[in-house]
Amino acid sequence: MRAPVAVPGPRDRRCVQLGQVEAALRPNTGLPVEWSAMSAPVVVELQQGSPADLAGLAVGDTVVALNGQFPRDVIEWQQLVDEADLELEIERGGLAITIEVDKRAGEPLGIDVDAAIFDRVRTCDNHCDFCFIYQLPKGMRRSLYLKDDDYRLSFLYGNFTTLTRFTEADLERVITERLSPLYVSIHATDPAVRSHMLRNKRGAMSLRWLEAILDADIEVHGQVVCCPGVNDGSTLEQTLADMLDRYHRLASIAVVPLGVSRYSPVDAMRPHTIAEARAVVATVERWQGIFLDVLGRRMVYAADEYYLRAGRPFPDHHTYEGVDMHEDGIGMAATFGREFRGETDQAVSTASGFFAWVEGAPPAGYRAPRNPGASPDAPATPVELTARPHSKKPIGVLTGTLGAQVIEPLIAATSTPTPTRVIPVANEFFGGNVGVTGLMVGADLQRVLAAEPQGDRYLLPDVCLSNGRFLDGLTVDDLPRPVEVIATDGISLRKAIGA
Ligand code: SF4
Repeated sequence: MRAPVAVPGPRDRRCVQLGQVEAALRPNTGLPVEWSAMSAPVVVELQQGSPADLAGLAVGDTVVALNGQFPRDVIEWQQLVDEADLELEIERGGLAITIEVDKRAGEPLGIDVDAAIFDRVRTCDNHCDFCFIYQLPKGMRRSLYLKDDDYRLSFLYGNFTTLTRFTEADLERVITERLSPLYVSIHATDPAVRSHMLRNKRGAMSLRWLEAILDADIEVHGQVVCCPGVNDGSTLEQTLADMLDRYHRLASIAVVPLGVSRYSPVDAMRPHTIAEARAVVATVERWQGIFLDVLGRRMVYAADEYYLRAGRPFPDHHTYEGVDMHEDGIGMAATFGREFRGETDQAVSTASGFFAWVEGAPPAGYRAPRNPGASPDAPATPVELTARPHSKKPIGVLTGTLGAQVIEPLIAATSTPTPTRVIPVANEFFGGNVGVTGLMVGADLQRVLAAEPQGDRYLLPDVCLSNGRFLDGLTVDDLPRPVEVIATDGISLRKAIGA
């Protein structure tokens, strides 16, 4: 059986959401929806005893129309199936069948379908020098190369959109259907800088849509991917000043460093120096003070990666003011520390990783919890089933080089019943400045684990897996040592090592 589509997922702080677009694919073709024609949703799961089941629907049915209408995506789908007493036109084995479904308004229909977008995913018409898709090696899954810029994926998955392809009709839909929150890539408010960064002249003017969306009281989270020598320094200052002046209703602004892989085709795109990272942190913190004075909230935050690069301690948890930007790599270190030290019993596992990408949430409810399982057969709560606190075996915690800088001090300050060490996995697959745990690939883990002793317990955070696969297509079965997959949060790690 094909897996149900994963609707919500983590967003990638670098605009392109590796893996999330995969969630909108048609699993039977492996093709992004954008590359295939408009096609009706196919039933991939059917709940026994549900209205759909009682009415005679079956897995594999293609739902051609609902009450005579053709939903474009799961947003419209959800609105239609919320109605009472549906008439479904389906196709089964080449036959057209009409099925009447008795149900109450708001009662779940009881089926999951195979895609989130039924027409075409709107692709990006920008050509950013810092785009991570241009920095992927050849030969990866086709879906990873799809550049989306679709406000629906922004709403459903938290993908960032530049709004360069946004239209008046889109605005009307966002407002009338209250598609909130949305996530917008800003990068710079200077029209010339923004159009230069996006390599698209529409980038100069498309932030007008941001004002219109904010005017309609839609919650919007902004992102600035900061490229040294391009939009840092005085440009970042001007951008933050404009935020205060024109976009102060933004829920948050995440300032994140560009990611540079060794496949980057643009020499000018380089990681920040330590001095540049310190300057970004200083700018953001100064503007936090200004925003706090004027608006009563800090609004702008720098990515954890900046603090690591700058050699600065992470800000205190409370300074993040409850704004959830973990999937942007912001405040995650502080949250992870609180979780690990037992200062909270609420794991923020829906937002793990500096560069998280997972799949597995059902289409109903749009922004459902992520699936922490490492593979289609993985347990729903992996840490509960894999943690073996009574084992006396030494433990190795596998993580990216950035994650290691966060986790090592936590473990060093904790007493554990068995020797526990952090194993940083240098990312040779991507190279460059890529050190985030979510981008660990199977090949690098193979190399690192082969040098580790047999018989130890090895813990692997689930954030680097999607439907059981690493980005390079390998699975945990391809690793030279058995690993225990745990959810990527401090509570799960603490439990798994028996601390
Ligand atoms: S080209 Fe730019 S806007 Fe388009 S997907 Fe890449 S980073 Fe995002």
